[in-house]
Amino acid sequence: MSQDKERVESAGFYEMLWDCDHCDTKGLLGKSQRHCPECGAKQNPDKRYFPKEGDAIKEVVGHKYEGADRVCPACSAAIGALGKNCTNCGSPLDGSAHVKGVSEPLKPIPVKKFPWLKVILIVLAIALFIFLIWFFFLRTKTGDVTVAGHRWERVITIEKFGVFQEDCWGNNCAPSGAEDERCRMEDHGTKQVQDGEDCREERVDKKDGTFEKVKKCKPKYRSEPTQEKHCTFSIRKWKEDGEAKSSGTMDKKREWPNAPAADTKASIGARREKARAEKLILEFQGGDSCVVSEDKWTKHKDGAKLTVTMKARSEAVQCDSIP
Ligand SMILES: [Zn+2]
Ligand SMILES: [Zn+2]
Repeated sequence: MSQDKERVESAGFYEMLWDCDHCDTKGLLGKSQRHCPECGAKQNPDKRYFPKEGDAIKEVVGHKYEGADRVCPACSAAIGALGKNCTNCGSPLDGSAHVKGVSEPLKPIPVKKFPWLKVILIVLAIALFIFLIWFFFLRTKTGDVTVAGHRWERVITIEKFGVFQEDCWGNNCAPSGAEDERCRMEDHGTKQVQDGEDCREERVDKKDGTFEKVKKCKPKYRSEPTQEKHCTFSIRKWKEDGEAKSSGTMDKKREWPNAPAADTKASIGARREKARAEKLILEFQGGDSCVVSEDKWTKHKDGAKLTVTMKARSEAVQCDSIP
């Protein structure tokens, strides 16, 4: 939801404040009091400020923003943007500059001391953990193993035809051939729905004696369950159901186990061959073994010494290193 645009809205215009330099009167209004009501001194536009926490704020109702004030080049009084002559001294305002304005002071972010010791200890603990994993489980060495035997295994996976109860989500989700289909709406998953807004307020100096409150809002979300069609049905199909195995040593003829024919007709309770797989296994002294290719299985006779890569601690043979 980070791509959500921020909504910006004006929350009205309010008087900036200023303090008189001459008689020390405080909290005068920036827009409507261009001169000090106590001593008559003119407002210094560079000293306007935002009302502080607890100061009364005065809204400028129906404020029409005409632009930033300009500074009289002769007497440095702040004059409204549309004025042609200074209302304080009468000087023409040709070529006069705009007032500087103030920006809201940024609240200092509290500086937290960076927890170096903690970080170093965590890094050390992780390094030690990785080292131990490597030392006990990953480290390898070169060594010799002796071939102790040859074994073969042949496996036929078998499937059975039957009626199965299944279910699925969505419109027309049941496969063709489904029977007794029953569907109803149920809760399934969630969706994000908008749930109000997160807002913050900023104050912008309009440089004409007022500031504008600007509300910036981003939508907030919560998750709500969604409903979807849920269907149960029964279906007749082949499904895996066990396997048949045969095995032996090198001197025994390699044969496939007995299994029902692959082209058995579909009827309830019928079984048929699904797939065949053969494994040729080299056994080593010490109890380790590896599945290898036909070529390696016949090449390495019983009693042969092979130089292989093995795990440094457990001496488990790395099967892909068998020559
Ligand atoms: Zn004054
Ligand atoms: Zn002037």
